[in-house]
Formats: sequence, structure tokens, C-alpha cells
Amino acid sequence: MQKNSAEGILKDVFGYDAFRGKQLEIIENVVAGNNVLAVMPTGAGKSLCFQVPGLMRDGLTIVVSPLISLMQNQVEALKIAGIEAETINSNNSEEQTRKIWQKINAGTLKFLYVSPEKLMTERMLDHVDELNINLFAIDEAHCISQWGAAFRPEYEDLAFLHNRYPKTPIIALTATADSGTRNQICDKIFSGNVTSYLAGFDRPNIALNVEIKAGWKQQLLKFMKGRPQSENGIVYCLSRKKTEEATAILIESGYNALPYHAGMAGEARERNLNRFMTEPDLIMVATIAFGMGIDKPDIRFVFHTDLPGSPEAYYQEIGRAGRDGEPAVAHMIYGLDDIRMRRMFIDNENSEPDLKRRGHQRLNLLLSYAEAPECRRVTLLKYFGDDPEYEKCGNCDLCQTPRATIEAKEAGQKFISAIFRTGQSFGVAHIVNIVLGKMSDKISQLNHDMLPTYGVGKGYSASDWKTIARQLMARGFIVSDMEFGSLKITEKGFELLRGNGDFRYRPDVTFKKSAKSSNKKTAAAIRDLADADQDLYLKLKNLRKEIAAERSVPAYIIFSDKSLVDMAVQKPTSVDEFGDVYGVGAEKQKKFGKKFTDFIAENLV
Ligand code: ADP
Ligand code: ZN
Repeated sequence: MQKNSAEGILKDVFGYDAFRGKQLEIIENVVAGNNVLAVMPTGAGKSLCFQVPGLMRDGLTIVVSPLISLMQNQVEALKIAGIEAETINSNNSEEQTRKIWQKINAGTLKFLYVSPEKLMTERMLDHVDELNINLFAIDEAHCISQWGAAFRPEYEDLAFLHNRYPKTPIIALTATADSGTRNQICDKIFSGNVTSYLAGFDRPNIALNVEIKAGWKQQLLKFMKGRPQSENGIVYCLSRKKTEEATAILIESGYNALPYHAGMAGEARERNLNRFMTEPDLIMVATIAFGMGIDKPDIRFVFHTDLPGSPEAYYQEIGRAGRDGEPAVAHMIYGLDDIRMRRMFIDNENSEPDLKRRGHQRLNLLLSYAEAPECRRVTLLKYFGDDPEYEKCGNCDLCQTPRATIEAKEAGQKFISAIFRTGQSFGVAHIVNIVLGKMSDKISQLNHDMLPTYGVGKGYSASDWKTIARQLMARGFIVSDMEFGSLKITEKGFELLRGNGDFRYRPDVTFKKSAKSSNKKTAAAIRDLADADQDLYLKLKNLRKEIAAERSVPAYIIFSDKSLVDMAVQKPTSVDEFGDVYGVGAEKQKKFGKKFTDFIAENLV
């Protein structure tokens, strides 16, 4: 094995056979001493882009990261792989920090994780001046942009880094950077002297499903039934109350679920977050208060019980799934009420007309994703400025079950006409009754059965009409009044009434089963294990849990599920054979080889 080649380190230290995507190109560039900006989606493997060069070059790599939990996780993972890594942060005792400095001064430490505010103090920099720094890695580099929601003023000071250390390469990494943010990173951190790598936003391993809301509790349970009994997942709910309800339903049905929302006492919330981050096979039921710093790699699904506020929020939330590159599912349910609710939020939250307008625009884009005529992924990626090479991803509900849209201009006109003739002061249910020619107290009192549009829509069912109403709304022909839910006609809607423009609608389907096919690899590999192997796999999981608890680290830091499946299939009984298991590098082979292979030998049937 060549110690200093990138491939050698990949195999020897991390136990992987091949680089993914642009990893190798980036690594080579950094090793050559160049500055790099790497914009890669979550799960693409950004960490290796600075960890491998850091190991290839002499000296210390300083990694700047915004969150203590992120730093700790990475440090633990490196340590278990046998690499000298530490973090200096406000949680350290003086004694700990002193010991770390001893290692730094002795030249034995390879990676030092610090926050930007810690690094950019004059005192720290004076120390750094004396050291042999081989690389600065700036993680979550988008925090430097004032436009983003994650802006951290401390990041701005990092702009001084390249002036003070002109000979040391800097790599900046982020998963979320639109062109404006990218330009700010290039300007501030690099003064323009940088090679950028843009890996695109596609997360092909995440299946995308959107289903129309029809009883969220049953829909959630039905989705869960199609999944393996134990795995990591996130269920997002809009309200605290719903978070509690969903947790209770899941627990009742035998799932391991925890709530997380802003209404909980800080301590209980911390505890649940900590459990989610460290224990395997947990479902976190959360409001959006749960987010930043969730880098558990083996989250298998994200279920939205309500519509998020924007495509950005949606993409960030589903992006927590499948960071390990294994199949994962994003399943969202949404309905008419979601649209109304979101519009109301936007109007109440923003006093500035400009912000309001942009809020509605972004919501409209998310709605056009939810009501997309074909491939959802293509719709989403185009929104983020990607230009996918395919027309159909094959891994969204619309690619898997194409649903034709139906020409429905006349139906749209009838519906809008009924809204118009009743003075734009009634909600969906009443208008649907009118076009269907139904009788209700309201209709007879108001003489709405005398309207020319009364009963003109008998060709469609009540549920078809609700779908039509929702899609008219999603496409901006009508809007729903915030307070009373009465329907109003937009300029576009009046145009349609006059015969201008088109309207096609797509009948709703309810999902028969959760998208099983989209969870092929590891989950299917687990299901497909022979009974005896399955048994061994579950035992190995327990062993992993014990070892993780002993060391107080998250289970996945010891081994991924994929590694355990590989062990259950290969059944290595010598430390030597153990080295061939997926994700086993030299250090893990040494640390865990005996324990696991003895265990496997004992449990062989
Ligand atoms: P990011 O920071 O881009 O979200 P990470 O660096 O956390 O992603 O990597 C995600 C997961 O993929 C980690 O478990 C990591 O070990 C794994 N990984 C990264 N590169 C490779 C590779 N070349 N082969 C196999 N697994 C990889
Ligand atoms: Zn698709």
C-alpha cells in the first residue's frame, strides 16, 4: 500500500475503495497547494476533501466549523479511525486545552477543529504563526454570506486568513450556496484566487414523493408500514401539538419515536436531540426548530406532515436523509389548508411589502413542485439553477407512476365563474356544491340554485372538484382569503374566464404503498439476508450499540449499517479477513477486528 497516495489513504484509513464524484480532483488540487471552493450537496463526502490532503501533507490542518457538535462528531470519527484530531472550544476544561496544545507543539496533532471566533483572536493567530499549518479548511462556508439565514458575523473575520498566510492553501466547503453566496465566499475568503468545484444539487439517492393530504395520521402509519421496523427517520410537523400527537401515534404502533419542539423544556429537548444523534434506529418528530448540525449519516426517511414554507427550506429538510449515499425517501403530504396556512404566515410575518411578495413567490415555486406535471427532481433542480442531464429521474412518484394531466380549461372556467357569480365570498366547499348542483341550507337560503353555474359540473366528482380547486390555487388562478377562506379570483383567473390561457389538471392518487422500491440497497440487502444472516446482523447491531455506549460515541461512528450487513454476509472470522469489510480501515481493523470476528465465530450456526 502506498502510504502517501490519496487512494492508499482512502483504503487504509477510511476503508473505502473509490473516490466519489469530484473528490479526487479536489484533493489533488489542494495537495498541490491551491485554494479550492467546493460546493457539494450534503452526503457527497466533503470531509474527505480536506481530511485526505491533511493526511498527505506534513503539518497540522486547521478546520473551522460553526458548531461544537459538528466538531465533536468529526473529531470522534477521526480518532476512531486512528487519526490524531482534537477540538478546542468553550466546552473544554483548561486541562484538556493544555494537553491539546502540548500535542500541537510536539507536532503530533494532525487536525485541529476550532470555531472562527476562536481562531481569529490575535492570541491564537500568534500561536498559529509559529506552527507548520498544511491547510485551512473552512466548513459551512456559506455562513459568511449576509444574505443567508445562516449568517455568522464571526465568519467575516476569516477574510484576513489568506493575507496572513499567503502560502497556506485554504479550502472552503458548503452544501448550500447560490451564485451570490458563492461570489461572496470567493471574494472574502480568497480575494478571487480560487478554483471552484460545483457538484450540483442533485441527491439522486433520495426518492421524492408528494401525496395529497387525506388524513395525515393514517398516511403516516401507512408510510411507516412499508418501511423496515427499525431505522432512523425524521417526521416534520408544523405545530407543537401535532408533534406530540404524531410521536404518540408512532410509539403506540411500536416505533421508537421522540418529540422535539420549541415548547419543550430546554433540558428535555437537549436530551432527545442527544439520543437521536447517538442512538441507532430512532425517529425524531420535530418542528422546524430541529435542524442545523444534524449530520447523522443514516437517516432513511424524512416525512413532512405539512408543507414547508419554501423550496429552500424543503430541500434543506429532506437533505438530512441519506447522507451516506444509501437510498432514502422524502415523503410529503399536503393539501388546500396548507396553502392557506402558509399564505397567512407570510402575510403575518412580514410587514414589508417586498418581503411579502418574495415570500409568496417562493411559496408558489414550492407549490409548482408539489403540483409538478412530471419528474419532481427536474422541477426542483431547475429551480436551484441546475440543468439536469436527464428528463426523468426514475426515483420520484411521478416518474414511477406517471399520471397524465387532463385538459380542463372549461372546468376551470366553470369553477371560477361560480366564484365570480357568488361575489367571491365563499369557500371551496360551497363552490363545489354549486357546480355539482347539490342542495344545502346555505344554497337554498341564498338562492344559489338559481345561478347559471348551478349543476354545470356534474361530470366530475366532489373530490375531483376539490383537486381542481387546489390546482387552480397552486397555479395562481385563484387565491384563498386569509381570514375566512373565501376564494378570490386573480388577474390570471379572470384571463382564463375570458378564454385566455390554459388549465390542465392532474387527478390525485393516493399511494397504495410507501415507495418500497426506492429503498433498494442496504434496506433490501437487510431484508434479503438469509434468516441466519439476518439474525447475525441484528446481533452485530447490538454489539455495535454496546461498543458505542462504552466509548460514548454515536453508533454510526463505530460502523455504518452497510458495514454490518457486509459483515453478516462475509462472516469474517479472522482479523485479516475483517479488513475486507466495507468501511474497515487499518485502525478499525486493529481496534475492532478481534472483538467482531470472535463474536461472529461464536454466533455462527
Ligand atoms: P458531507 O459533509 O458532504 O455531507 P460527509 O463528509 O459527512 O458528507 O460524508 C458522508 C458519508 O459518506 C460519510 O459517512 C463518509 O464516510 C461517506 N463517504 C465519503 N466519501 C466516500 C467514498 N469515497 N466512499 C464511500 N463512502 C464515502
Ligand atoms: Zn423523477
